[in-house]
Amino acid sequence: MAHQSPSRRERAKLLIPSMRVASVLDIDLDHLREQGVKGFIFDLDDTLVHAMEELAGDDVLAWLASIRSEFKVYIVSNNGSHLRVDIAARHLDLPFLAQARKPSRRFFRRALEAMGLPPNEVAIVGDQLFTDVLGGNRLGAVTILVDPISALEKKWHRRLMRSVETRMLKRHAYHQPIVRTLHPSSLGASAPHHPNADEPPSHHPSIGH
Ligand SMILES: [Mg+2]
Repeated sequence: MAHQSPSRRERAKLLIPSMRVASVLDIDLDHLREQGVKGFIFDLDDTLVHAMEELAGDDVLAWLASIRSEFKVYIVSNNGSHLRVDIAARHLDLPFLAQARKPSRRFFRRALEAMGLPPNEVAIVGDQLFTDVLGGNRLGAVTILVDPISALEKKWHRRLMRSVETRMLKRHAYHQPIVRTLHPSSLGASAPHHPNADEPPSHHPSIGH
């Protein structure tokens, strides 16, 4: 028992991130400064960019731009599409390595070399325990686990819908006895008007002048 448990415990520890936040926007930079962190290696999909979208949101773009003067930043992605990572990384104006096979440390080390930083001065940020956190911990970096952007969106959507529902129920309960379901098909009358083949196009401005 005494012989076996330490290694099992050590292995389990490799899956525990140094910190956990909802989004990269919530990363406590002061805390990282205190720990001597001078650079970030970010995962791409669902860490910086929604997995089903091509480009990062404006909030992530602005946040990354704001930390660039102080921290070195690199993207290391497991995504098999070099083009996908290239497009997203160019938009963020960040250097990247794709097809990294995390938790392998090979591409992390290449990024560290390019950044000129030792592992303990870098925070590795990602949404997956078995790639980002495991690889980062094996390397001896600070590791930060984020909630996947797509999951976060679902959570926000649920919360938003609940608050809309609550508000509507309250409003209707106090002022309107009849409640109608708010659905895009019921908004047809106020939807933007689109010309169709049956109508003369004369009232539309011409293009090219
Ligand atoms: Mg990811």
